[in-house]
Amino acid sequence: MDSLEDIEREIKSCRKCKLWISKTNYVPGEGNPNADIIFIGEAPGREEDKQGRPFVGNAGKLLTEMIEKILGLKRNDVFIANILKCRPPNNRDPLPEEIEACSPYLLRQLEVIKPSIIVCLGRYSANFIFNLFGLDFPGISKARGQVREIDKWGKKVKIIPVYHPAAVLYRPQLKDVFESDFKKIAKLLGHKRSANPTLLDFL
Ligand code: URA
Repeated sequence: MDSLEDIEREIKSCRKCKLWISKTNYVPGEGNPNADIIFIGEAPGREEDKQGRPFVGNAGKLLTEMIEKILGLKRNDVFIANILKCRPPNNRDPLPEEIEACSPYLLRQLEVIKPSIIVCLGRYSANFIFNLFGLDFPGISKARGQVREIDKWGKKVKIIPVYHPAAVLYRPQLKDVFESDFKKIAKLLGHKRSANPTLLDFL
């Protein structure tokens, strides 16, 4: 049986595509191996590549804020990973052959963690996860905030795509919808109120 440590060790010596040459650090993912909820992004950016940790740049700060303030959780309560474990040069889009080479690591991480909720961060992640589970992906602006349920690991697993936090930083007008999608995730988790409730949370 795989463990997250085994998978991480393999990732850290991976040469299955060319991205290992240009990367600074592998970014395997991190968090609670028993997490109920996993967040899946696209690929490490500059700061993630520097630190070897997922979502630690500006987009990561926004994600962390949502996890803490709206879900009432800590980063180490959840698991955070990407489809690609190495940064594509200049943050270019992942190539199909890179996704093919790298995604088995994510699939193995999912098999170990067996989360009840999968949050897809952005269109790449959502497209990948929907295809993986045989769901039709209508595009991120239609799919975001909509919960899909699949039978997996002997239970019902919920999949919910949200906008990528980097897209929200780039287009601040998406922030309200992004926050309301996280409130939906909080409800899925059974947290009826946020950690720092406002009057609206009680209505
Ligand atoms: N964007 C991603 O998709 N993943 C990260 O880890 C950071 C930024």
